[in-house]
Amino acid sequence: MPDYKIIVFLCNWGPHAAFQHLQDQGADIPSEIKMIRIPCSGRITKALLLRSFEMGADGVMLLGCQSGTCRYGSGTRSAHGNTSETCRILDLMGIGADRLQLDNFLPDRPQVLLARLQAFVRQIYEMGHSPILPHASVRGEAPAALTPEAIVAAHDVFACQDCGKCTSACSLALAGKPYSPREIANRIIAGRADDPDVRQAVNACLTCGLCYERCPSAVNFPAFIRSMRAYYHHHRLVEAPTHGGFFQSMMRAMTAENLLPRRWRDLPAEIRTRAGAPVLFFGGCAPYFDIFFNRFLGVQTARILEDSLRLLNFFDVEPAVLENETCCGHDLLWTGDRENFLRLARRNARAFADSGAGELVTACPECYHTLAHDYPENGVPLPLTVTHIHEFLEREIDKGAVGFKPLGATVTFQDACRQSRFDGRSDLPRKLLARMTGTELLEMPESGSGAVCCGNSAWTGCDAYSKSLQVKRITSARQTGSEVILTACPKCQIHLRCAMEDAMRAEDLQLETMDLTSAIARTIYWEGS
Ligand code: SF4
Ligand code: SF4
Ligand code: SF4
Repeated sequence: MPDYKIIVFLCNWGPHAAFQHLQDQGADIPSEIKMIRIPCSGRITKALLLRSFEMGADGVMLLGCQSGTCRYGSGTRSAHGNTSETCRILDLMGIGADRLQLDNFLPDRPQVLLARLQAFVRQIYEMGHSPILPHASVRGEAPAALTPEAIVAAHDVFACQDCGKCTSACSLALAGKPYSPREIANRIIAGRADDPDVRQAVNACLTCGLCYERCPSAVNFPAFIRSMRAYYHHHRLVEAPTHGGFFQSMMRAMTAENLLPRRWRDLPAEIRTRAGAPVLFFGGCAPYFDIFFNRFLGVQTARILEDSLRLLNFFDVEPAVLENETCCGHDLLWTGDRENFLRLARRNARAFADSGAGELVTACPECYHTLAHDYPENGVPLPLTVTHIHEFLEREIDKGAVGFKPLGATVTFQDACRQSRFDGRSDLPRKLLARMTGTELLEMPESGSGAVCCGNSAWTGCDAYSKSLQVKRITSARQTGSEVILTACPKCQIHLRCAMEDAMRAEDLQLETMDLTSAIARTIYWEGS
């Protein structure tokens, strides 16, 4: 079957010598194999492994040197970590963990290498083609609304009074970056949208919304940025996303219709879910983040989902969960890839409609905002109401009969931009915190709708200023005297913990992080029981 495609990344040292020997001998190397010679298996990141599938591979093999013989010292270990984590993500996504394999060879075993390659090709034949659609390389014509002039007009950027309030409020400017939203807008108005520095500036915006919050003319700069990114994306002028584009690849891969994800498989046994229930729980990407970041940050974002389900059960709700839910598409929309965002949105909307549920609960502020607002605004209305778990909890706790054990720590709270500014609901977590007996909230100077961003958004534009912003935020949290920084968004937790990894400042930047939903799940009890 000539249309099968199997990529073999082959380390230049040990395995390549064995492979070359096979070629010299005219050995029966399967024709499906496309060999890519690399300097070291450790250089093949998770993003490159996933990108291979996005480019149409049915199987990928990474062949490195044997442990202890890597020329660069740690290559074999990195290759092992990258492969096993990507395999776990492929498994959760429903692509099949066995489509990606790692092996190690020295030059002296060419026949063993040949047998291994032939066995891998046979295994891929048995699995069939990869369900991922190769990422479309041809784009249609840009819609008329997708020109810088039309985007400026649509967002009424001309209303700008040039007062500079946006610049003095901007999260990036506060971190010391020479960054001015009005200046970026002015350059785009002046016809310089295609200048590389303008593009880079558009890409760097955190879309945190602080500038919009302060703007007297209501110029919605984040929405303007989002449209400009769609323009750049259409013209293939996207700047490098973070983590090699792994998450964007993952989200695009999820648009494949015949994926069979297994995302809820590892739920603890005591959690009760029920197919066909009137309440549906939407998990989002948290389980994937835990696998991707596990070696570095020790984040536990999947626990937010488990704790949300526990709390729903606590209030006698056994929700349905859908194996075929995909990412909500937030990051694709905010990096300009509307085409794939809409594919995800339509796929999710169909799955929600098929479930028959009337209410959908989600624990992530980005998922909430995307499902509740961006889906309908982009022509994908949902046949159910969308509720954030904080709203559900506030509704239930308000009925009485529950109490809280003390959390046993002083806390401060990092607002999620999508919840505090975009949805105007910074009151919700505070109401919940006020109900938590013995848990005093020590607010940072900038909080609520004026809170500073966690330093990154939509997996794009992370730079030294993002890091500086995170360090400032953690420092500010520590200065309140708190022992725990409570977060409400899995990505805030990831980004703040990322800054805490700084080996040079480990001591100064340590602060326990915990999601508010998890803190509630840990302390709530029925009064009188
Ligand atoms: S705050 Fe608004 S009006 Fe003032 S410079 Fe910025 S975009 Fe223009
Ligand atoms: S959205 Fe945030 S990062 Fe972007 S310009 Fe406004 S304040 Fe600055
Ligand atoms: S802050 Fe850390 S986790 Fe977040 S995007 Fe940047 S490097 Fe990645």
